Amino acid sequence: MSKTAKIEVWWDTNDCPIPEGYDASRVRPSIERAFKELGYTGPVSITAYGDQKKTPCHVLRGLSSTGVAVVHTISDSTRSVMYRDMVEWRAQNPPPSIILIISDQVEGDFSWDLARLQQRTRYKLFLAYSSKPCKELFLLYKANWRWEKLLEEGGTPPLVAAGGLSFAAVFYCKSCNFNCQSVKTFRNHLSSYKHGMEDAINSPDSRLSCVTKTWAKNYPATPEHATAKIHVLWDMNDCPIPEGYDACRVRPSIERALKELGYTGPVSITAFADQKQTPDHHLLALSSTGVVFAHTLFPWDLHSRMITEFEEWTKDNPAPASIMIISDELALRKSHSSLICRKLQESNYKCFLAYSVRPFEMPVLLTSAEWLWDSLLSGSCFLFVLSCVTKTWARNYPATPEHATAKIHVWWDMMDCPIPEGYDARRVLPSIESAFKEIGYSGPVSITAFADQKETPDHHLLALSSTGVDFAHTLPWVLHSRMITDCEEWIEDNPAPATVMIISDELASPKSHSSLIYRKLQESNYNCFLAYSVRPFEKPVLVTSAEWLWDSLLAVSETKRQTLQKGCESESESESESESDSESESESTGMFYCDLCDCDCESMDDFKKHLSREQHTHEDKIMSTHFQSFPHRHRQFKISKYHDEVGYPPKTKRMRKASRKVFLPRSLRFTRR
Ligand SMILES: [Zn+2]
Ligand SMILES: [Zn+2]
Repeated sequence: MSKTAKIEVWWDTNDCPIPEGYDASRVRPSIERAFKELGYTGPVSITAYGDQKKTPCHVLRGLSSTGVAVVHTISDSTRSVMYRDMVEWRAQNPPPSIILIISDQVEGDFSWDLARLQQRTRYKLFLAYSSKPCKELFLLYKANWRWEKLLEEGGTPPLVAAGGLSFAAVFYCKSCNFNCQSVKTFRNHLSSYKHGMEDAINSPDSRLSCVTKTWAKNYPATPEHATAKIHVLWDMNDCPIPEGYDACRVRPSIERALKELGYTGPVSITAFADQKQTPDHHLLALSSTGVVFAHTLFPWDLHSRMITEFEEWTKDNPAPASIMIISDELALRKSHSSLICRKLQESNYKCFLAYSVRPFEMPVLLTSAEWLWDSLLSGSCFLFVLSCVTKTWARNYPATPEHATAKIHVWWDMMDCPIPEGYDARRVLPSIESAFKEIGYSGPVSITAFADQKETPDHHLLALSSTGVDFAHTLPWVLHSRMITDCEEWIEDNPAPATVMIISDELASPKSHSSLIYRKLQESNYNCFLAYSVRPFEKPVLVTSAEWLWDSLLAVSETKRQTLQKGCESESESESESESDSESESESTGMFYCDLCDCDCESMDDFKKHLSREQHTHEDKIMSTHFQSFPHRHRQFKISKYHDEVGYPPKTKRMRKASRKVFLPRSLRFTRR
């Protein structure tokens, strides 16, 4: 069936141009023939990307007459535009289909993201290059042709009348979002003033955007994997049994973590280590729970042994099935996990990871769930605890008795981490509190929720404020800097020891403006917690004492919560039991603050009134206009730069007038005339 599947070709004409003297109409038959030789006979569609201003007319004609679509984009953006189009195409064209990428730049983010895409949706992948072959071992492809060779082998141009548009060939301009059918119109367009302007001010982003960057959550099981087999490869060197931990609990802990996500299939576990070093009571306890041991004499042999076992296991256990890897080394972005990675691109296996330290970069293995080894064993809801970069830093940040009962303040970015659909907002504070308690923090918790509160539904405002959550109204552009400022102010008023928690994707990313404040926190005796909706792409700069995925933090199971809270607080327990009647009784205890007007409100009604008051809407408008005008000013700058480059003012009267009005200083306007 896949032999007749359609073949989609993305061709970077800057990297892989048509050789001097080569007939452009032979490109299509050459590609078709290369595929036919491998037995693929499906229909081929080809799109050529690049700066087409330099492409000669006869080449454009040769391509379009054979049904090759031609896309113009500035050279810097060719790679990113091609990639974006491919990602879009994938969303609309489910497998089986065949992809051919003709480019010298299948490397770095491109191959990393593509390898991860291929693990979720599998297409047959082919590559071609002119000078730089793709050398990434983790990317699985069927062939890697040399471009010139591919063309040489292609024989004659098609016999069927060239010139007639038998295919739906089109010329596209990505800068102007313009398309046409004729070479002449296309050429005219590319040499027009209007197009030059768009190339200068509106050309597509040259940065490649990795779509799988946000695929970093723990996902519930799909039906076909829910009951399928799960094989666990456990590196006991990287992830040993903690001191004093009962080894009998290892298997149940792993099974429970998987069950929480809906995976209930049979679990087999192989533990890799120099087993002469493993204490007898561990060997006994583990083997009594059905864990199998693999003895590897040398540490450097261990990971390749794990991979060999994985290979053998997949032979006996075809997909759908799941693999879990417990190892620091194999979780790294560039490790010998490439074989596993390629296997995941070939067959429908799910992959889980556990590690003792969170990897610095996101792995190339596409995972359905990840755990920190220690928290997996302790059965906590949280993902990462004490994810320390270095062991020396770690010594500074254990939960000391002085922190255990100290104040905790939470800055919550409601835009990045909103309340999930259908979630009872009154559970937010108790969920956060019980997550803290699980790791030994029982001090008083206060929360400030930042958002454009005009957008927050009334029932959320009511429910949250009834549990004592404070609100700060602010606008999207300044939200993060306001959170930071507020945090700084709080630190001044609340000397260490104390704990600061930030709930935000933006502030968890290493490039955010947060680093300064975090450094300050680390100087003094503050603890720092983080929560985010998606695991950050790179590790944050700060050293955290705990990190959570926002969804899993909120999803602390009802039963677990009640057990935890038993004897601690009767108040929050009754809160969780009486769902319906409490709403009418609840009075808001939270504060409402308008960040724009620097104004406090005692009640939700006052707050709502304030937000609709003229004085407030005025402030709101000033702020919005200021930030919204930025793109406009930036555009004006690019226009004047373009005019300088091409030596305009343009020829028409109207344009001349317009351009002077915008750019020329008043005095110049007259002297020029
Ligand atoms: Zn254009
Ligand atoms: Zn206001």
